[in-house]
Amino acid sequence: MQKINVIWFRRDLRLSDNAALFHSLKQGLPVLPVFIFDTNILDELDADDQRVTFIYQALCNMQNELKNYSSSLKIIHATPIESFLKLINEYDIEAVYANHDYEPYARKRDEEVSKFLLSHGVKFNTFKDQVIFEKDEIVKDDGTSYSVFTPYSKRWKATVNDFYLKSYPSQNYFFNFIKTESIFYFPSLKELGFNESNTSFPKRTISEQTLLQYHLQRDIPSVEGTSQLSVHLRFGTISIRALATIALAKNEKFLNELIWRDFYQMILWHYPHVISRAFKPAYDHIVWENNEAKFKAWCEGQTGYPIVDAGMRQLNVTGWMHNRVRMIVASFLCKHLLIDWRWGEAYFAKKLLDFDLASNNGGWQWAAGSGVDAAPYFRIFNPYLQTVKFDPSFAYIKKWVPEFEEFHYPQPIVNHQEARAKCLLMYAAALKGL
Ligand code: FAD
Repeated sequence: MQKINVIWFRRDLRLSDNAALFHSLKQGLPVLPVFIFDTNILDELDADDQRVTFIYQALCNMQNELKNYSSSLKIIHATPIESFLKLINEYDIEAVYANHDYEPYARKRDEEVSKFLLSHGVKFNTFKDQVIFEKDEIVKDDGTSYSVFTPYSKRWKATVNDFYLKSYPSQNYFFNFIKTESIFYFPSLKELGFNESNTSFPKRTISEQTLLQYHLQRDIPSVEGTSQLSVHLRFGTISIRALATIALAKNEKFLNELIWRDFYQMILWHYPHVISRAFKPAYDHIVWENNEAKFKAWCEGQTGYPIVDAGMRQLNVTGWMHNRVRMIVASFLCKHLLIDWRWGEAYFAKKLLDFDLASNNGGWQWAAGSGVDAAPYFRIFNPYLQTVKFDPSFAYIKKWVPEFEEFHYPQPIVNHQEARAKCLLMYAAALKGL
């Protein structure tokens, strides 16, 4: 039987500028492209989860490209171990290639898959792809990892060069994709247990105008002043190297945001405990009120605070929320409603199209004050002042909460001044003695 290599796509759903794909194709053996709809992950999702449609469409695009090389994507719907058992029985595999994933579930999965493959004489070769710098690539002079963003970003900028940004010319080796007589069976979304979403997903490009104006408009939720590329970065339908190259040339503020993304991935890698506990352990002593009725009002955008409600409604309808408003609603949940940041984090994880464990956890712990480089606990966003500053003509609020000035719009569920005072007492009690 002809030996082959396998490229296993995960959060890198593209054929161009893809590290693992490039290395697999370059070996010269035929390369079988594989995607696994991992039942461990899918079983936890609602049938209407829009992200599955996004992934599905990205795979259809890849399939169409592969047809040009008389090749085809193999889709498997099972656990990773079951999938590789099946592949090993069907093919003589030299090695499986994949890109690094820094999330705890993925790390455990990859360890198990690596062991399993090795026990069958198959190598598992993995590469950095979804970030510019990973793991220990950006560290302090003494070799320890950063936990404050500004010095990290300075070192990031001092280190970056063409070597880290150059694209992998996978296309030069596309002739090495395995040739198939017909395309492999491609299951429908229904067969996978999901309904097709009719959402139109954000486009895969950033306009010159947005890029050049980014630093001026990025905080105004009523205008399209940010890239909306987060879902593409999340699933790898664009290359971070390509985007960082543009950012470096055109807008430093935009580059900084991409560096935040690397920063949080690095934090998750070094401190995986953050997925269930505070980065700063003292914050685990906070006694949250966790009032379920207030949580429900927050989720539904019915708190009586128009800017908070607008953000939550934008999230519920579109699967995306503007960053400034993510900060406001997250701060409001923790500090005004005294609800555990993990509740909000889990709600975002369910609803966000761009949900990314590292950035979501980082954002929530920042808002709660418990994270790396977080907002100090005594800095409590005032939703009214935030509105005056970032939505002065109520353009954003009017779009999502058109009834905000009418009598049937809810009264504020908490009084700002009282909530603020209570929050300060609660945090001080938990952190006393520090
Ligand atoms: P742009 O402003 O155009 O930024 C470009 C890219 O930089 C983004 O696509 C994203 O990949 C990255 N980026 C921007 N801001 C941040 C940031 N603060 N931290 C890390 N990366 C950033 N981002 C996610 O991608 N997934 C999440 O699950 C997520 N959850 C968040 C939760 C909270 C509570 C907060 C405060 C922020 C969260 N963010 C998350 C960060 C940020 O809000 C989004 O990345 C951004 O709003 C996406 O819109 P955009 O693509 O238009 O961003």
